[in-house]
Amino acid sequence: TAVILWLRHDLRLSDHAVLESLARRGGPVIPVFILDETAEGEWPPGGASKWWLHHSLEKLDDDLKSLGSRLILRNGRTETELSRLADETGATAVHCHRRYEPAARKIERDVATRLTKDGVEFESFPGHLLFEPDDIRTQQDRPYQVFTPYWKACQKRASTIDAPLGKPRSLNVPSKWPRSEALSDLQLLPTIPWDREFGDVWTPGEAGAHARLSALRKSIADYPTERNRPDHEGSSRLSPHLHFGEINPRQVWKAVHKWIDDGVVTAAAASVFLAELGWREFTHHVLHHFPFTPKTALREEFRRFPWKHSQSYERAWQRGLTGYPIVDAGMRQLWRTGWMHNRVRMIVGSFLTKDLRHNWLDGARWFWDTLVDADLAQNTFNWQWVGGCGADAAPYFRVFNPTLQGKKFDPEGAYVRKWVPELVNCPTKWIHEPWAAPTADLAQAGITAGKDYPEPIVDHAEARDDALEALKSLKNR
Ligand code: FAD
Repeated sequence: TAVILWLRHDLRLSDHAVLESLARRGGPVIPVFILDETAEGEWPPGGASKWWLHHSLEKLDDDLKSLGSRLILRNGRTETELSRLADETGATAVHCHRRYEPAARKIERDVATRLTKDGVEFESFPGHLLFEPDDIRTQQDRPYQVFTPYWKACQKRASTIDAPLGKPRSLNVPSKWPRSEALSDLQLLPTIPWDREFGDVWTPGEAGAHARLSALRKSIADYPTERNRPDHEGSSRLSPHLHFGEINPRQVWKAVHKWIDDGVVTAAAASVFLAELGWREFTHHVLHHFPFTPKTALREEFRRFPWKHSQSYERAWQRGLTGYPIVDAGMRQLWRTGWMHNRVRMIVGSFLTKDLRHNWLDGARWFWDTLVDADLAQNTFNWQWVGGCGADAAPYFRVFNPTLQGKKFDPEGAYVRKWVPELVNCPTKWIHEPWAAPTADLAQAGITAGKDYPEPIVDHAEARDDALEALKSLKNR
């Protein structure tokens, strides 16, 4: 009898435990993806995510065809569609990989209830993380809230990370395929041509993920220093591939360990990269154990923080028109490519939550819509981290100075010049603080301050003092 392979954030064929076990079993397999925006709670996929998903599903269908199979697409409530599919095909079971977001977990429970009622077996398996969130606990049997001891505990269990599985050679198909939507009917692509440049930067799909992994082999030895340079391509850019499960983290983990064995990279340099995979694990651990965090800060006192809200400041931030070049470069890189360098994410996050004193959720929502790697665990955690109100967070009083950050991490101003072309001729000395430049220097570069490029929307030193006052008010209450 047939089994339905319910595909979710596991859009790959290699190292896919559920696919592998169904292929080995030998009966017909029906691979299905269901677009169900109601299944994501308050966080339905944003525009950039949907762009990625469209292309990833297209590639997955092609890849399944190379196994003699195909991808069935459905649109609607997950439990209803799975129940219908089982009915249409006579499938006796539905298997999937687990997800960890609160709404996704609820859907799994709803699916289990519905299918059990129908007499269809339902099983979910691990396959998105290196360590299951429940398997890592403190000595007091509690979840971790601090990264370093969490990651130490994980590393003690590193021997439990199995070798990745291969890709099945073929897949048995049902005698008759059920109905499928056309990919274009899912309407995942944006209606305005805002995604024009995405295709130049990204190759969604499993092959694209492995191409990024191969590229990392060449750059990983320099990762510890290069990862902080937004003007260089020093990080892996695996984030959207990991989010959609086009590559399994253990494939990355094992590849890096092989490079250590082969002398491509030292264990010390590799550990800096592996710790980032550790942060990915930690954000999922925190979301799993504190499922309220996408709504409210983990640190309770911040629920009373006197956040401000200014629509005009928020729009200036979103559009990259704050007058702080490194902030504007980051926000424009995000808009044009669906991605922003991690160092710059921290700078723009600090600017929004501290200089503009906006609630971290305003930033999280904008990132959610514009990032191709938007991930509820990683986005929520990191916004609370920069906003000083989450697990193991940077203290709120540590306010990033956008000028100094720019000078340190984009010393020649190449990143700013790439994304803020108004400043392309600005002398390097002033590239991170054009407001301080003598008018003659700017005129020579063809820039009229306030006309070609905005004056700073807030004074950083004053805004910082205001933010610290606000923090004090929280403590005095
Ligand atoms: P690399 O440096 O090559 O790291 C390898 C992998 O480790 C990444 O692909 C990612 O999966 C993981 N990783 C790296 N840094 C972090 C981190 N700080 N927290 C958790 N995992 C990490 N990452 C997302 O994937 N989705 C998000 O929605 C997201 N939102 C963020 C919001 C803010 C405000 C900040 C400061 C960071 C956010 N990050 C998010 C984390 C980080 O910026 C990206 O994972 C990273 O920039 C992706 O680039 P990369 O793949 O080249 O990373």
